[in-house]
Amino acid sequence: MAGLSPDWKSNPLTPVDDRRAGALWGLAIGDALGAAVEFRAPGSFEPVTGYRAGGPHGLNAGEWTDDTSLALALADSLGEAGWDLNDQVRRYVAWWRHGEYSVNGRCFDIGNTTVSSLSRFEQTGDAYHSAVRSEWACGNGSIMRLAPVPIRYVDLFPDRIEELARLAAESSLTTHANPQCLSACRYMAVVLAALMHGLARDEVLAPDWDILRRLRASEPLHPAVDEVAAGSFRERRPPEIQGVGYVVRSLEAALWAFSRAADFREAVLAAVNLGDDADTTGAVCGQFAGAFWGWSGIPQEWRDGLARSDMIETALRKLGVRSPGR
Ligand SMILES: [Mg+2]
Repeated sequence: MAGLSPDWKSNPLTPVDDRRAGALWGLAIGDALGAAVEFRAPGSFEPVTGYRAGGPHGLNAGEWTDDTSLALALADSLGEAGWDLNDQVRRYVAWWRHGEYSVNGRCFDIGNTTVSSLSRFEQTGDAYHSAVRSEWACGNGSIMRLAPVPIRYVDLFPDRIEELARLAAESSLTTHANPQCLSACRYMAVVLAALMHGLARDEVLAPDWDILRRLRASEPLHPAVDEVAAGSFRERRPPEIQGVGYVVRSLEAALWAFSRAADFREAVLAAVNLGDDADTTGAVCGQFAGAFWGWSGIPQEWRDGLARSDMIETALRKLGVRSPGR
């Protein structure tokens, strides 16, 4: 399947690049759309239709939260240091302590698991062993920032998906070492890379996708994650579908929104209008939707209205992508 490998270095405006850019733009836009209704119960707010000021962090319309900050830190690390987990976490600490990679120079919306893991890293300097390992620490904090990994390593698909999955799991290990988090990142990275290559959504999300079978054969997915990969998001609907912080429900909600949508707009609005952890459900769904419909499939008013989009552009350049149309 060598024909799928993109030659993005010499031809940076191929459709593959459009989709790689779309994954990171989609992450940030989903985050920004959801930020205004984070922590709100489903059905308790006027449905989101576009950027809106307010929310628990008092943001301006189009501003994004920790999901995007951590993705930008991860992208920066991949671009500057290659694959170096300690460097990844040092950049997360720079966000936490000094507000680097933030839309407004402040660290806000940081998750409990992330705080605990970064605190321990400051003491040990060992990103492989500093993450919280409690069985309860299974939040969505590593899937929400994942896109830079499949963007940077997209050419590991399809021949070396085991390696792509391993990198995705390691990217989670730094803060979210729970097996469900690692497994969710393995599955999600392979799906994102496939979508960036232009594979059909129904093929990629099918429970018997041949690539998924290979992934399971290399190392079984955690049963709770595999239930999602096997299509739980097609059988359920709200209120069973929940945009909450638990990584499995979060992934399921994002796939529910993505799999049934006609376009990028419909996907991310369905995700954020689940309320609760709306910014992160939006960020996870936005990665899938952006990887599938591409940068060019994102409504222009959302691209234009995104705060500090220069930071997204910088991160993409470091990942070897130039945003199409700019
Ligand atoms: Mg957030």
